[in-house]
Amino acid sequence: MKSATGLLLSASALLGASCVNGLAEEVFAAIDKQDDGLRTVNKEIWENPELGYKEVHAHKILTDFLEEQGFNVTRSAYNLSTAFRAEYSSGEGRAVSFNSEFDALPGIGHSCGHNLIATIGVASAIGVKEALENQGVSGKVVLIGTPAEESMGGKVKLLEAGAYDDLDCSLMAHPGNDLYASYGRTLASWRANVTWSGEASHAAAAPWLGRNALDGFVSAYSSTGLYRQQLMSTDRIHHVIQGTSDMVANIIPDFVDTVWGVRGKSRPRAEQVREQLFRILYASSNATNTSIEITPFQDYWDQNPSFQLAQAYYNLQKEYLDPSEDSETANFTITAPEDDDGEASASSDQGNVSWFLPVIQVSFPVGGTAPVHNAGFRELAGTDFAHEQAIKTAKALALTGIQVLQNETFAEAMWTEWEAMIKEISVGLSENMGNSTRNSTRKRHVH
Ligand SMILES: [Zn+2]
Ligand SMILES: [Zn+2]
Repeated sequence: MKSATGLLLSASALLGASCVNGLAEEVFAAIDKQDDGLRTVNKEIWENPELGYKEVHAHKILTDFLEEQGFNVTRSAYNLSTAFRAEYSSGEGRAVSFNSEFDALPGIGHSCGHNLIATIGVASAIGVKEALENQGVSGKVVLIGTPAEESMGGKVKLLEAGAYDDLDCSLMAHPGNDLYASYGRTLASWRANVTWSGEASHAAAAPWLGRNALDGFVSAYSSTGLYRQQLMSTDRIHHVIQGTSDMVANIIPDFVDTVWGVRGKSRPRAEQVREQLFRILYASSNATNTSIEITPFQDYWDQNPSFQLAQAYYNLQKEYLDPSEDSETANFTITAPEDDDGEASASSDQGNVSWFLPVIQVSFPVGGTAPVHNAGFRELAGTDFAHEQAIKTAKALALTGIQVLQNETFAEAMWTEWEAMIKEISVGLSENMGNSTRNSTRKRHVH
C-alpha cells in the first residue's frame, strides 16, 4: 500500500502545482485586501475569550464579517447557538470546507490560539471564494464555525447533525511554537467525570461508622500509578480533583469529584486502556465501600489526516510561501504517516471528522517557547507576527482547497486513499464502539 500511495502522490503533486498556477496571485490579493478586517476579527476574539458554547461575541463578529464578504451565512447552525455555516458556490462541483474554532480556556483565555484558527478559516474561505467568483473555478466553499473544541466536542455534535455530509474535505490549522507541519496525527481521547460518595462521621469518636470517599479516589490514583508500567508510550492517563466535601481532619470525607482522561494512539487502544481504568475504578469503590459514578463527556477519535492533502499543502506552501526570508529557523515539514504515531500531540474533535472525510490540520509557528495551554502562549497568539503567520497559512490552505475543486484526478486519489486508510484503522474496533464512519452512505463528489 505504501508504494501505491507514493506513486499517486507524485502524480497528483505535479498536477496540483500546475492547476493553481495563474490564480495564486489573485487568491492572495483577495485575502490581503481584507487584512484589516481579518486583523480586527482576530483581535476581537483574542481580547474577548469565551468558553465552549458561550462564544456569543466570536459568533457575532465572525458571522457579520462573513456576510459583509458576500457569503451565505446561517447563524446558530445545526441547533448549536454558537455554531455557524457560511458558504459560497459557483456552478456544479465538489465542496471544500474549512473549520473556524473560537473557544478559549478557563482562566488563561486564548492560550490555545483559537483566535488564529478562526481567522484562518475566514481568510481561507475568502481565498477560495475569489477563485469561484472571478477565476472560473466551479464548486463550493463552506466555512463551518465549530464551537467548544477544548472539551465538549462541538464537531462531534456537528457531525451527528450532518454538517459534513455534503463535503469533500475539511481543512484547518492550529498554532504552535516553531514548526510548519503539514501532517500530524492526534491521540484518541476519552474523558469522564468520576465521583466517590461515602459516609461522613467523626474521625476520632466514630471512624468505623464512616465510609471514606477520599480513600476511594486515592486507591484508584495509586492503582493507576501501578498500571503505568503496562502502558504504551502513546497512552495517557491524567486526572484532577474538581471538588470535595468540606475537608477538615476530624470528618471522614464523604464526597470527591474528579475528572479522568484516557488517551491512546487509536480508538481501539484507547478502549483497551479505558477498560483497565474501569476495573481500577470499580475496584477502588469495592475496596473502600464507597459508591462510584462515572459520567463520560468526551470521546475524541484519533485524527488520521489525508496524506494526499498534506502533501498538496506542503508542495503549495513551498512553491508559493517559502518562509526562509522571514525566519532563520522555521522550515516546512511533512512526516510520512508510518513515521507519526501521534506521541507528541494532543487530541482534537477534528479527529472524529477525519473518520468521516479527508482532513488536514496543519500547524504553524507563532514563535516563543511558552507551550500551548500556558498563559505565555496567549500572549504569543495575540501578536501581529502570529497574525501574519496565520494569513500565510490561510493562503496555502486556500490553494489546497482550490486544488481539490479543480483537479479531479487529485480528488479521486484523495478519496481512494481515505477509504483504504479507514479500512486499515478500523481493524480492532469493537462492536460497542458503534458505526465508525459514514463509509457506507457518503457520496463521492467527483464529476
Ligand atoms: Zn487547546
Ligand atoms: Zn486548540
